[in-house]
Amino acid sequence: MRSIKDYADIVGNETIEEIEKLGSYLNGKIVQNINSTPVGGGVAEILSRMVPLLKEVGVDARWDFIKGGERFFEITKKIHNSLHGVEENISENDFKHFLEVTEENLKDINLIGDIIFIHDPQPIGLIKAKDKNGFKEKKFIWRCHIDLSSANVKTFNFLKKFIEKYDYSVFSSPLFSKKLKIPQILISPSIDPLSDKNKDLPDETINEVLSRFKIDPERNIITQVSRFDRLKDPLGVIDVYRLVKKHVDCQLVLAGGAASDDPEATEVYNEVIEKAGGDKDIFILNLPPISNIEINALQRASTVILQKSIKEGFGLTVSEGLWKSKPVIASAVGGIPLQITHKYSGLLSRTTEGTALYVKQVLQNPEYAKQLGENGHNHVKHNFLITRHLRDYILLFLKTGYPQMQDTVYL
Ligand code: UDP
Repeated sequence: MRSIKDYADIVGNETIEEIEKLGSYLNGKIVQNINSTPVGGGVAEILSRMVPLLKEVGVDARWDFIKGGERFFEITKKIHNSLHGVEENISENDFKHFLEVTEENLKDINLIGDIIFIHDPQPIGLIKAKDKNGFKEKKFIWRCHIDLSSANVKTFNFLKKFIEKYDYSVFSSPLFSKKLKIPQILISPSIDPLSDKNKDLPDETINEVLSRFKIDPERNIITQVSRFDRLKDPLGVIDVYRLVKKHVDCQLVLAGGAASDDPEATEVYNEVIEKAGGDKDIFILNLPPISNIEINALQRASTVILQKSIKEGFGLTVSEGLWKSKPVIASAVGGIPLQITHKYSGLLSRTTEGTALYVKQVLQNPEYAKQLGENGHNHVKHNFLITRHLRDYILLFLKTGYPQMQDTVYL
């Protein structure tokens, strides 16, 4: 089992001591995280690492999930897309069903936390318990991982009724915040440098993974790791690969999987298979949720990493690629520009043609690629590692008990 002390080699002893000290002030307080899926996607990725570390520094951190049937998750996926600005038809009946499932979860989930930490829109309605059960002492925090800057007004207003009942809200970037009556805190997500997904790997492991998937280690590898989701634009990635391949030899890896709260994944996966049209140099890997070493190895084996998202909350895969000192070419959307300074720590693009041009440039200039990757690694090291995130969360939890700490608010 990893310990918080193991991070000292990366971030220094002082940082670790400070986190331990801050954690001790929470004195066993129960922080109950609630989201909608244990695996798949960035929220589950972060919680799976954050919860054990919080426990280690003295917070009684818990992690629960809400339940819902197929229809509920179809609706929450539409809500998710429409918050990202995608046109979706969400009917009154859909909103009604969302509320009914919320009521069922209110009956099932034991809200035992001193702090109830709700992640994203799916469980947002659990705030109803605050008034209903007269929870005066408990603090409720809503953590939004979505870019709300172009959110559909009707959908957002539906959620706003719930959001404003929380004590605090947390956003990943100042650009995503909204006019709200409650305090808004800025906390960026993070990656865990010691997790299976990000730790150093021996060459044998990387080679074993490549040979298992029959990927040629001697040729250029372009990779995008993402759930099979239209907002990640996997079809656009295939277009990029085809444009690049006219000039430079390359293989394409699209590594993905499904999240249990994402009903569209199979459909998108099938579209990707069809578009690839049997091209032997396109590797479409539908990976089970436990494939952390595989994803790590694929990222480390890549010549260039893409994240061609149309919309993105933060895009952990960008930090994951940069941490591995890889040149990352990603869309200038959502939280991605927080991670990449254009032409310094990666490349930002807005079009398929632009992305293809940058991929070509990077493949043809290994020195430039190396410099981008190194700068990206340092940027992630200073801004997007789990130790920074852990410290921010502890300060937030402390603040809920000490309103005089208002000045530590970042927004
Ligand atoms: N991921 C994974 N398996 C997959 C696809 C993605 O483990 O098949 C991981 C990926 O490495 C990253 C997270 O899921 O850690 C995705 O987070 P991100 O913020 O990039 O996107 P989200 O899925 O939350 O929209």
